[in-house]
Amino acid sequence: MSCRIDVLTIFPELVEPFLAGSLLGQAIRSGRLDVRVTDIRDYATDRHRSVDDAPYGGGDGMVLRCEPVVAAVEAVRLAGGGGARVLVTSPRGRRLDQSLVRELAACEQLVIVCGRYAGFDERILEETGAEELSIGDYVLSGGELPALVLVEAVSRLRPGVLGNPASAELDTFERGLLEHPSYTRPRRFRGREVPEVLLSGDHQAVESWRREQAIHLTAARRPDLLGDADPDGGDRPILGESEK
Ligand code: SAH
Repeated sequence: MSCRIDVLTIFPELVEPFLAGSLLGQAIRSGRLDVRVTDIRDYATDRHRSVDDAPYGGGDGMVLRCEPVVAAVEAVRLAGGGGARVLVTSPRGRRLDQSLVRELAACEQLVIVCGRYAGFDERILEETGAEELSIGDYVLSGGELPALVLVEAVSRLRPGVLGNPASAELDTFERGLLEHPSYTRPRRFRGREVPEVLLSGDHQAVESWRREQAIHLTAARRPDLLGDADPDGGDRPILGESEK
């Protein structure tokens, strides 16, 4: 199953370089991943190719206009076969988390619209049936970084993007646990030693050490996640009284 992702923006030059680099760039160039960038301005209808205008009722900031944004969404949706899930980046939106990322990674086509200035004319949301998506409770100046956050998070769950697919499964949040600590060479750095068990060659001992570390770390930093970690409650006995 292939997933097509369309990023719609008035600043393609902000988005394109990121998509060209690293594993994401390789996956796109080799056709394992289909990510396209559309300049909303190409869909402007007036002489000045305007994409924004002053808000009715007054106030600061310009508002993205209906005509070019809706036309751009409809064009890429049609090109993708019509079944797209349309997401508009917005601090008002549903907050992105790993379970939403998993859900979106299973979609046939994602259309991500980047806002700028004071945001969108409300009728864009109504007309396209878009969902608003936030990457966190802070305000950025545009939706380009949020769109790239989403593209990267979704892409690494797609087959053929990560070098080792197993690493996505062990990631923080995928198991309801934060990731265990990691070490690489040298064995001793400024007097700090790598934990002995990691040098033992005993895979089972390494596995149980890592799981134990992950559980302690999650209990200390994100106890809210622990409820999901192990439905049988098998992790709880590892925790000390004060962590429960
Ligand atoms: N006036 C708007 C914010 C506009 S910020 C409001 O208060 O809701 C300009 C654009 O940046 C937004 O349209 C959105 O596309 C993007 N943006 C800013 N913060 C964001 C966030 N936390 N998550 C997703 N998109 C964000």
